[in-house]
Amino acid sequence: MDNCLFCQIAKKEMPANIIYEDDDVIVFDDIHPKAPIHKLIIPKIHIATINDMTHEHKELLGHMIHTAKKIAKKLGIADNGYRLIMNCNTDAGQVVFHIHAHLIGGRSLDWHPG
Ligand code: AMP
Ligand code: ZN
Repeated sequence: MDNCLFCQIAKKEMPANIIYEDDDVIVFDDIHPKAPIHKLIIPKIHIATINDMTHEHKELLGHMIHTAKKIAKKLGIADNGYRLIMNCNTDAGQVVFHIHAHLIGGRSLDWHPG
C-alpha cells in the first residue's frame, strides 16, 4: 500500500535500520525502543491487522515467529528471555496498520499489559 509506513520500509522507500531480510519478512529497529533490544518483524506484504489474517497467511505468520526466535538467539537474549507482542486495533494500541511483531528484551520485563 502506497501510504503505509511499513510497506515503504519494506520497499526501502523509507529508511530503517534493517538487521534481517528474506523473501517474506524484514526485521528492523523500533524507532522508539522500549528496552535495550526492540525489533519489529514485519511481513513484506501488506496485512493491516491480525483481524485481516486469512488461512493463506498461516505459514507467513509462523515464519515471523520463527524469524523472531532466530533473531533473539543471534542477539543473545534467547536464554534470558524476551517478549513477542502483536497489537491489534485501537484498544491494544496499534498505531501502524501493517502487522508487526515486537521483539523486546535485553532486560527483565514487567508484566502489566493493561
Ligand atoms: P504498534 O503500537 O504495535 O502499532 O507499534 C508501532 C511501532 O512502530 C511503535 O513501537 C513505533 O515506535 C514504531 N515505529 C513507528 N514508526 C517507525 C519507523 N519509521 N521506524 C521504526 N519503527 C517505527
Ligand atoms: Zn503495509
